[in-house]
Amino acid sequence: MAEDKKILDVSDFEEVNISCADCEKQLLQMVKVEKTDTEFEITANCPYCNGSSWANQLKGRYYQNPSDGLGLDDMIEKDGNFVLDMKKIK
Ligand SMILES: [Zn+2]
Repeated sequence: MAEDKKILDVSDFEEVNISCADCEKQLLQMVKVEKTDTEFEITANCPYCNGSSWANQLKGRYYQNPSDGLGLDDMIEKDGNFVLDMKKIK
């Protein structure tokens, strides 16, 4: 896991693809369902290489759509930052 994580400001996007910063596999897609003033950061942990995505700065309410073959294992909130643990499913 790299120490110098960058934050991607994607708060205006309707759909945000989150991929692993290390192996670049697609992990999940965040789809905006409602415009709100709620801002949060989201990071996804990669089940393929145990790396993680960059932090994505989002605004609004989103639906989480895991990529094919993946599911959401756990979600941890830390100071308004959400960390999603993705897992491989068959
Ligand atoms: Zn990875």
